[in-house]
Amino acid sequence: MTGEERATGRNEHVPGADDRAPGADDRAAGADDRAATSAQASVDGRRVLDALLELQDLDTAISQLEHRKAALPERQELARVAAALQDVEARVSQVETSRAVLVERQRALESEIAAATARREVLEQRMYAARGTPARELQAMDDEIRHLRERQDQMEDADLEVMVALEPLDAERAALEAENAALGTESAQLRGALRDAEAEIDAELSVQRVARAAAANAVPEDLRSRYDALRARLGGTGAARLVGNRCSGCHLELPSMEVDRIRHLPPGTVVTCEQCGRILVPTSPSPAGSSSADASPSGSSSEGSSSED
Ligand SMILES: [Zn+2]
Repeated sequence: MTGEERATGRNEHVPGADDRAPGADDRAAGADDRAATSAQASVDGRRVLDALLELQDLDTAISQLEHRKAALPERQELARVAAALQDVEARVSQVETSRAVLVERQRALESEIAAATARREVLEQRMYAARGTPARELQAMDDEIRHLRERQDQMEDADLEVMVALEPLDAERAALEAENAALGTESAQLRGALRDAEAEIDAELSVQRVARAAAANAVPEDLRSRYDALRARLGGTGAARLVGNRCSGCHLELPSMEVDRIRHLPPGTVVTCEQCGRILVPTSPSPAGSSSADASPSGSSSEGSSSED
């Protein structure tokens, strides 16, 4: 390229004539390199903050899934059914205790009745077979037989009372067994439903955790540990968006001057919310700063480029 051509090119200000001659535009080219480097740094910084926001979004989603899993309605229902089953078992045990007393009394009465009957039968046979037995002895046997009959009647009455008392207990025991069976069925159904619901959430969780690991890798370690510490301390949110004038972490408005300052910082600058201490990320990239040197179509003039530094 000749000097004339350079002069012509510069004078005419041909738009888009980027092929500048070496030597003459060294300073401008150097400035462009620096601008390009700083633009690249801005893009990288912005990318890191975007990854941090993505990490936060994934952590929030994971927390919500974990919470949903812990609070599944089937789990509460299962707890209710388990409590009802325990209650039924306690009532069954009470009924069994009451029944056992009555059953034991019934067994004793029936054994006494059998003994009295046997004794009476022996006496009766002896009386009928007794020829020539003295009248006094016969009278004694007759008295005993009468006495045994009376006692037998009393014991049979008592036995009947025991049977009557057992009836409601048997009915209650049958009702409790039916209740127990119904609760057992309900419990099995709920366990199945809970297992399905948990499996569904677990599948979602594993997808989110894989995405989280990828997002975490895109955030430098020092920023990530700062984020993790904030998140642990501040209810699961370590990084918040600056939406308008408001921090999405604490939902408080920042002073306009502070918002203006933040929005004019080089993209990728890590900012802290004054109110809650969370990392604050402006929602849209700042329009000022990095792009003006590259965006100008007449950027070949040396004064414009060098003033950017
Ligand atoms: Zn805040």
